[in-house]
Amino acid sequence: MTQSVRGVQTISHWLDNKPFAGTSGNTAPVTNPATGAVTGQVALASVEDARTVIAAAEAAFPAWRDTSLAKRVNTMFRFRELLNARKEELAAIITAEHGKVAADALGEVTRGLEVVDLACGMPHLLKGAFTENASSKIDVHSVRQPLGPVGIISPFNFPAMVSMWFFPIAIAAGNTVVVKPSEKDPSATNWIAELWVEAGLPAGVFNVLHGDKTAVDELLTNPAIKSISFVGSTPIAQYVYATGTAHGKRVQALGGAKNHAIILPDADLDLAADAMVNAGFGAAGERCMAISVAVAVGDIADDLVAKIVERTNTLKIGDGSRGADMGPLITQAHRDKVASYVDAGEEAGATIVLDGRTVEADGGADGFWLGPTLIDHVETDMSIYTDEIFGPVLSVVRVDSYDEALEMINANPFGNGTAIFTNDGGAARRFQNEVEVGMVGINVPIPVPMAYFSFGGWKNSLFGDTHAHGTEGVHFFTRGKVITSRWLDPSHGGLNLGFPTHD
Ligand code: NAD
Repeated sequence: MTQSVRGVQTISHWLDNKPFAGTSGNTAPVTNPATGAVTGQVALASVEDARTVIAAAEAAFPAWRDTSLAKRVNTMFRFRELLNARKEELAAIITAEHGKVAADALGEVTRGLEVVDLACGMPHLLKGAFTENASSKIDVHSVRQPLGPVGIISPFNFPAMVSMWFFPIAIAAGNTVVVKPSEKDPSATNWIAELWVEAGLPAGVFNVLHGDKTAVDELLTNPAIKSISFVGSTPIAQYVYATGTAHGKRVQALGGAKNHAIILPDADLDLAADAMVNAGFGAAGERCMAISVAVAVGDIADDLVAKIVERTNTLKIGDGSRGADMGPLITQAHRDKVASYVDAGEEAGATIVLDGRTVEADGGADGFWLGPTLIDHVETDMSIYTDEIFGPVLSVVRVDSYDEALEMINANPFGNGTAIFTNDGGAARRFQNEVEVGMVGINVPIPVPMAYFSFGGWKNSLFGDTHAHGTEGVHFFTRGKVITSRWLDPSHGGLNLGFPTHD
């Protein structure tokens, strides 16, 4: 899968349980964000390469869908045990290519494992319904069947967890998959592919296609691919949804976010300040569930800002493999883009309370560093508010009332996650009912649902109507079929051209 030439690895596609170099000749560099060093070259598929990988998934489908559920689930259990035993290896790969700190990388793998746990229960999740004697001597039952080869396209910020939202369920339900990871941190998926081989998954069931728009476009348009599960930025999610559905596929396309936390005057400010730091700066803000806007209601803003500053000043910024609290950003270009948002906020008149642009990190001189940045007195027409920044930048917006805060959130085009901090159960209950966001936390800053619930936002944070994992995930990767049967009974013979009714 990966061949090392003078420390730089070649990261190939993967099909039929082995590496596939492809024929495009195109590659993209993969870097360690904490040092800036190029550590790998990932293959970028041509249309031909993509077709070869998709054909492997197509060829493997008939046998896999007919493999007994018991055997499919046994393979899933073996995969679960192997992953659980070796998750630190995967976490280290994530830190080396993404930059997030070791504990956070392990957390990502653990949340992905939850979906594998769920998929181990597929026999229960796939059970259909049966009605005996629905009409005289007629029985009706329903089954759910796999779709075929399915495409999974993931973003850079969770190189393992996001594809794991989908493939355990897809595979356990009898589909074959093609995963197209982010070209920025592609190695985690190849490591997972090798683990599947060890778990005994037949060739062609789990395939990896590396690449950029060319690879994605082939997945979106190739008739062999029956569904697309996409996670990434909103403009691409919108494009993927429009193109995939236009080619007759079912599509779930999860997009970007701008997550607000409301802090009411009666909130426990220490709890809220901890939460703002953890959810604002964890993974350097490169989480779709990061809190990027703290909405301070009433006269608590000065105290809240002071508490956030006090906590943030204790954070160690540096190489994620060396015990830091927060690592670098994914690329130099992204680091510079995030910094330019801070510049724009400053020019627009917001107050830069903590300035990450001048951070001194415990990491390589050429690493992509930007420290935690806290910006107060942010207004909703500033670009630091209107745009998804996807970096360690927390804005504080001051408002007078709960209603003003709620109106702001509901007017925002994104609707991924949100949180309210309060000790007032009535206010919390009102918020969960009124807010137009898919995932809501009450005194919980990053309300990522457990695997047996479904993950997904509203508005520009999700295109399609099916969220990831949970029962919605099982429905997405299966088609319903209802069978009406009558076993031969001579008394029911005879012609009747009318529409079938009951007797
Ligand atoms: P991205 O949209 O740039 O890339 C996502 C995937 O799309 C990658 O595999 C990439 O190769 C591919 N891609 C990029 N440009 C493309 C194009 N023009 N045509 C076709 N495919 C293309 O996103 P990213 O920068 O990797 O990830 C960060 C974004 O993902 C953020 O906006 C974040 O909010 C979002 N995200 C959302 C969720 C969620 O659950 N809603 C979860 C994680 C990340």
